[in-house]
Amino acid sequence: MARRPVIAGNWKMHNLQQDAIDLTNGVMQALKEEDKSALPEVIIAPTFTSLYAANKALKDCGCGKVRLAAQNCYFEEKGAFTGECSVQMLKDTGCEYIIIGHSERREYFGETDEMVNKKAKAILSNGLIPIICCGESLEQREAGVTDYHIASQITKALRDLSASDVAKSIIAYEPIWAIGTGKTCDSTEANRVISMIRNVVKGLYDANTADSIRILYGGSVKPETIKEQMAQSDIDGALVGGASLKADSFAAIVKGAM
Ligand code: PEP
Repeated sequence: MARRPVIAGNWKMHNLQQDAIDLTNGVMQALKEEDKSALPEVIIAPTFTSLYAANKALKDCGCGKVRLAAQNCYFEEKGAFTGECSVQMLKDTGCEYIIIGHSERREYFGETDEMVNKKAKAILSNGLIPIICCGESLEQREAGVTDYHIASQITKALRDLSASDVAKSIIAYEPIWAIGTGKTCDSTEANRVISMIRNVVKGLYDANTADSIRILYGGSVKPETIKEQMAQSDIDGALVGGASLKADSFAAIVKGAM
């Protein structure tokens, strides 16, 4: 089955509203000449405070080439949860995707596998798509427990989700030691872990679901690395941090995935 590639830019805690508008416009300008049907699914994930501005810039352009994601959400619909944002609120701001379980959220904000699972359920029940992150630390890799750790993260994240919901979800494999370090995971090794994840999905569901779910690689992806990454059998795209903060480098990654 042909899976449509995805290139998603995680802006992390960067960009004031005007910067977000400029970067959104810059990305669209850089993709202006490209045929929409040939493009991968292109996603940008600004901070909460820039979502409205970025969404307006996307709507004003009207080209429909770039979609909006949030970097986090809360799983409850509303209530006394100071500082949180529900899926409905993010949907109302134009988000179609939400990143969950990013290693920075797990490490600095105590996001657990159980929370990732609750967030995935809330996202899917509202008709949005979760981008579920997983990945091992350097210590786990050196201890030889990478596959065990990732299989456990994925199994817990998908608990009680239906096959059809899982089929439309996105997973991002992001080795923690490769995030923001400039050290990209070797493409064949990233592909090996990603096909292992696909096998986990097959074991939990069926071959169809495993063939449908898109699984991205993340960790110091650059314009120079994307072609080799996309040439791998199981890598369906990239979650990009640092290189998504400049329109030129992000657009070069998008074009490299075509
Ligand atoms: C990320 O934050 O998800 C990421 C992959 O960052 P970077 O591309 O900077 O390593």
